[in-house]
This record gives sequence, structure tokens and C-alpha cells, in this order.
Amino acid sequence: MTNKTLALFFITFFSISVFAQPRTIPPTQKPKLVIGVVIDQMRWDYLHRFDKMYGQGGFKRILSQGYSFENTLIPYTPTYTAVGHACVYTGGVPSTMGIVGNDWFEKTIDNRMYCTADSTVTGVGSTNAAGKMSPKNLWATTVTDELRLSNNFKSKVIGISLKDRGAILPAGHSANAAYWYDDATGKWISSTYYFKNDQLPKWVNDFNATDPVAKYMAKDWNLLLPLSAYTQAENDDNEFENNISGETSPSFPHKLSKLTKTKYAAIRTTPHGTSMSFDLAKAALINEQMGKGEYTDFLALSISSTDYIGHTFGPNSLEIEDTYARLDRDLADFLNFLDMRIGRGNYLFFLTADHAVAHNPGFLEQYQIPGGHFDDRKMKDEINAAIDSAYAIKDAIRYAYNYQFYLNDAVLENSGKNVEAIKAFIVKKLKQYPYVVHAVELENLAAFTMNETQKRMMSNGYNPKRSGDIQFTVKPQYFDGNKKGTTHGAWNPYDAHIPLLWFGWNIKPGETNREVYMTDIAPTVAALLDIQMPNANVGKALVELTR
Ligand SMILES: [Zn+2]
Repeated sequence: MTNKTLALFFITFFSISVFAQPRTIPPTQKPKLVIGVVIDQMRWDYLHRFDKMYGQGGFKRILSQGYSFENTLIPYTPTYTAVGHACVYTGGVPSTMGIVGNDWFEKTIDNRMYCTADSTVTGVGSTNAAGKMSPKNLWATTVTDELRLSNNFKSKVIGISLKDRGAILPAGHSANAAYWYDDATGKWISSTYYFKNDQLPKWVNDFNATDPVAKYMAKDWNLLLPLSAYTQAENDDNEFENNISGETSPSFPHKLSKLTKTKYAAIRTTPHGTSMSFDLAKAALINEQMGKGEYTDFLALSISSTDYIGHTFGPNSLEIEDTYARLDRDLADFLNFLDMRIGRGNYLFFLTADHAVAHNPGFLEQYQIPGGHFDDRKMKDEINAAIDSAYAIKDAIRYAYNYQFYLNDAVLENSGKNVEAIKAFIVKKLKQYPYVVHAVELENLAAFTMNETQKRMMSNGYNPKRSGDIQFTVKPQYFDGNKKGTTHGAWNPYDAHIPLLWFGWNIKPGETNREVYMTDIAPTVAALLDIQMPNANVGKALVELTR
């Protein structure tokens, strides 16, 4: 070959390679299906840190063929599960959409409240309290509600998650169904909010009838790959890890088949909980004919096991590294399923997290990185005792939730004492804890001197009907929790920096480090679908995807 023919050969060869890319079906006017996947507790850095553990069909496929917002932040505190799911789907923050925590003190009824608790409904497929759930505490519409409103409720919307709140809040108020898991019985359930006839669809009963939990737990939990492939974990047996319910050691192999008494609860804290959630999602897509009709359908799937495993073992455990290797395989399998059933390019897929997570402080201490843990209820009791001795008032602080104190208004007002002086006393006492940095009366937040990022997140998280009266911040890497395992909830990037990946219908490959927010997800879906944004939205459509 001469140089010229050689050049021609290469040009022809590379042109053919370009044309030999997988053929994408020309996109339809609207996607046949939207799939939103929330990975509970997924830190953004897991996308890259566990890179070597991933195959080609899961995270790597999405990263190479989809669009990644590498710098997506949660714009409020507290960074908890219910708030995250509500924010992703409403584009709102606690001050606008009403979900201020997993739990809070509801001032209108003078009682504690769980985010999705609803005493007016009963379980369907369950007779216990796990079924008494609905989205009634969520004030706002979700983007899934707006999709239903956009076409007179022709779109089908279903939410699925082991956690009630992970299924119910994303599916919104007008959903066709939400399904969650009852660990007393090992069954997937719903409530009379969705099924007035008190009957689960036959396909859900059929799914439950196979006792999927028993099948999965019989497989135990062993490492997916040879031990030498795991490079991101501490010693497997260490003092910073908790146990799976029913086990006595935090190490592999996890003999789940031995957990006869606790298996229904324990599956939550294993990767089998992830696989089972994908199984139910596939069954829903098939049996409900989702993505097969004239209108866009929406499946909101939330993977909870990642959070249970993360809390128990922490981000530097062999268990978490293996969990993400396995999640990646489940994801690859799910994308293949969608390609076959809905068609490549016919579905819009996004993946994000409801919050991330801190490292275990004891583990960090080994490497001289500062941190620690505390107990907010103990702080409440200590400060209450100090108020009692200074002012002769008992239980002045009623609850400690979400790094906030709720004051006992009736007791304070009836005391005849100067309430403002007592509030100032609490703030002063809080600041005496060595790990507390700020303590602030939330009503007066605007007049308070503090870093703008923290202040904005606190202000977005403040809802006068449901939030506490006094909030405190702590030094980085201090959290309300124990020596073992870990948690989340703070403003810091380790809790607030989440993945945000888009893939499929009308999504061009790319990535950006532009700072965007969790609140931008719902208005972006709305913009892509040409529908109204949710009614408490404060986010902005991501123009990288919409132009
Ligand atoms: Zn959590």
C-alpha cells in the first residue's frame, strides 16, 4: 500500500466505524416511558471511586452515552430520605413543599408525625401499621402529578421502593399505585389510599406468592468478585461496622440462609433487597403495560438497600464496595430489559440520590482526620435540666429532631417567665458544646451572621408549620449517631453532593461541573416533557438538556 492508499484505507475504516455505532431509533415526540431511579444514600464519588468494580452495561454505559451533572448539590438541610425524595420530584424545598424530615413535630395537631403516616387509610396486603401510609403530608404536586394533570390522567404512574417514603413521595398524590415492603410478612404492599377496593393487583399477589425473600436469602451474601479486586475497603472485621439483624459478625461471608427469624427484615440490609426491587419494577412494567400506550408513563423506583447497608457498614467497607458492584450489574440488566421492552431511545432515564453520607468518624480518626459523634436527645435532656435549675421550668425543650429543638410553647407561656431570655439561654448552652458551631433561632435566621451556603440551606429547610425553633450546626464530620456505622443529615458536601445522570430519549452524551441543584431535576423533566412544573418548584430546568 502506498501512503496515499493507506490514508484512504484509514479514512474509510474510521468512517465505517462511525457509521457502525449502535443504531438509535429516531426519538418519538415524547418518550414512551420515564424512569426515575433514586439510589438511597449514593455519594457522588461512588461513580468514580468504584470505577474498577463496574462492568460496561451499567454506570459506565450511562456515563459514556448519557449526560452527567458532576456537581449536583442538595440546597437545604436536613439531608434526609423523605426530604430528598420529595425534593427530587417536586423541585421544592422543605419551606415550600412541606416535607421537613423523616419525622417532625406537627404543630397543627400538637403531635409527632412520620412523613408518610396517614391514620385515615389502612394497608392493602398488610394488616399492620406498615400499610397506614399515603402522600397526604406532602403539600406540593410532584412532576409525576403534573404529568397526570397534563393529559387528563392518561399517563400511568407507579412508585416502587422497599421504603414506604421512597415509593409514596415520588409517585405523588394522583399516582395509580405505590408499592413498598412490609418486613413483618416479607410482602410488597400498598394502602387504601391507592386501592379503595382493598385489593392488590393479581400480579403483585403472584409476585408475593413466590416468597422472593426466601429465595434470595438462601443465596447468602458472598463477594461478587475475587477478594483481590476490592481495593477501596478497610479490613472487613473492624470496630466501626454494625451487624445485619440476626448476625453476630460484620464480616463476609454473610450467611443469610441462617437468618430464619430475621430474614424478612434483614433482606433490607443486603444487595438482595436491590435485586428484588428491580424484579418488582420489571413485573410492574410488564403487567401494567407501561410504556406501551399512547401517553408517556412514569415509573419512580427508589433503591433503599444501599442506605441500610451504608448506615450499617459505612462508605469504606467491603460491603459497600460489593453493594455497588452488584447494583451496577442490576442496573445493566435493567437497562437491557428496557431496551428490549420499550426500545432504545424511547425511554427517558434519570438516576440520582436522596442524599449522600459521611464517613465513620472513628475510621477517619485513624488517619488523623477530625470528626466525632453526639446524641441530640442527651443534649436536650442536659439543657432542659439547666433550664430547670435556672428558671424552675421542666421540659422546656419538647423534641430534638433534625438538628433542631422544638420548644414546649404551652409550658413556656404559662411559666410567666421571659421566654426570649430562655431562648437566649438555650442558644448559649448549645454553643458551649465543643462540637457545636452555630445555634440560631430559625425565625431570626436572616439577621444571623453565618456562611451564606449554610444559611441558604437552613433557610430553604425552614418551614414554620413543621420545623423546630432553634437549630444548631456542628463542626464538619460530627453527626448525631453512634460509634459504629454512619449517617447523614448535615449541610456538608459529603451529605449533600449527589450523582445526577440522564440517559435515553433525546439525551446527548456529555458532562458538566457546573453547580446545579437537586431542585433542578423536576423542572427539567417537566421541560423535556412539555408539561407544567410542580407547584412548589424553586429549581431551574437544566439547559444542557433542554436546548
Ligand atoms: Zn439514611
